[in-house]
Amino acid sequence: MLKQYPPLPKRAKEMLSLSKEELRILTGLLTGHCSLKYHLNIMGLAENSTCRLCNEAPETAEHILCKCEAASHKRLKYFSRMIQTPEEVQETSPKRIVGYIKSLELL
Ligand SMILES: [Zn+2]
Repeated sequence: MLKQYPPLPKRAKEMLSLSKEELRILTGLLTGHCSLKYHLNIMGLAENSTCRLCNEAPETAEHILCKCEAASHKRLKYFSRMIQTPEEVQETSPKRIVGYIKSLELL
């Protein structure tokens, strides 16, 4: 008989349901190792780190996910709020986060 494991938390289950590509996008965002300009600039691959959407702040994962004004309508569509905190992002479905990022066509 198979050993019974406690049920996985909802979020872990959702992450396991992501495709390899979706998981790569999500991991890159969470670690900062992705093709957002802040990281590319550090690696010498972009001349500056300014956000391509608003031209007003460094293009970090937190900026894009939480407060970039140019993406506020997309956040409203995907997260039902225009501005959000990193804590709120953590409570959001990984599929939604990946969908939002893909819709911005930055990565
Ligand atoms: Zn921005």
